Formats: sequence, C-alpha cells, structure tokens
Amino acid sequence: MSSRTFAMIKPDAVSRGLSGKIISRIETSGMKVVALRRILMTPAQAQGFYIEHKDRPFYGSLTGYMSSGPCYIAVLEGDNAQVKWREIMGATNPADAAEGTIRKEMAVDLEKNSVHGSDSAQSAAREVSYFFAEADIVS
Ligand code: ADP
Ligand code: MG
Repeated sequence: MSSRTFAMIKPDAVSRGLSGKIISRIETSGMKVVALRRILMTPAQAQGFYIEHKDRPFYGSLTGYMSSGPCYIAVLEGDNAQVKWREIMGATNPADAAEGTIRKEMAVDLEKNSVHGSDSAQSAAREVSYFFAEADIVS
C-alpha cells in the first residue's frame, strides 16, 4: 500500500553538490517526490524537529549543524515508503552502513551523515506536518 515518509538532504550533502544524486536514487527506487523545498532552519526549528533527542549528548551539536546551512526537505510516496527510504539511506553510522547505501557512499561522519528519514509511520506523520501543509503535497 502506498504511504508517505519525510526525507531531508542534510547540509553536508547539499554543500557538496550531492542533492541531485540523492534525489535520483529516490526516483530510481520507484518512489515519488511529492513535495520538495530548500530551507535554512533556525536553531529553534532544528531543536523542535529533533526534540526526541533533547537529552542526548549530541543534541546541541546536531541542532547547531542542522541549522548551519541549507537542507532540502521532501515528502516521498510509494509502497512502504518509510522502510524503503531508511534502507536506501543506510545505518545512522556510516561505518555500519551497508554497501550501496547513501550513508556508506556519501556520509562524512556519524553526525554529518547526509540524509534523514522518518523512523516510523508516527514520526513520518509528525515530521511531514512539521514542515509541510497538505496543500504543499502533490501526489
Ligand atoms: P537516524 O538519523 O538514523 O534516525 P538518530 O535518530 O538516532 O539517527 O539520530 C539523529 C541524527 O543525530 C543522526 O542522523 C546523526 O546526524 C546524529 N547522531 C546520532 N547519534 C549520534 C552520535 N552518537 N554522535 C553524533 N551525532 C549523532
Ligand atoms: Mg532518527
């Protein structure tokens, strides 16, 4: 069944000119990009987005990094989109990511790991609506 997930191309990938390559992988996988926007998050926006990690030691560094440069935010649609996009991304730590995944091939390090993807249907719904109105999404 078709579903939606939230994706981000993080500042390290945008700044190195990898956005087109990443979007191409999404499209090649059969998923559809149904919303796309370039943004520069404020620190407060990044803190709200990553609120689940507020007590983790890397929260300050992560939210500082995510507000340090432009990101592309997107909504992806397809069969099992949330699980499929996480598979294409690879493990959080590029050192653990499988061959052929985006993080294995493009990430700089554990923090600057090039892409974000929702980790459940619930987080997908929250993250999509954090940035997009339903009218922004065109299936
Ligand atoms: P994912 O992005 O794979 O869902 P998490 O939700 O666990 O991973 O973490 C969110 C983001 O925080 C990661 O993508 C990465 O950028 C950063 N991060 C996670 N763990 C660490 C860590 N131990 N040190 C530094 N940054 C981290
Ligand atoms: Mg996560």
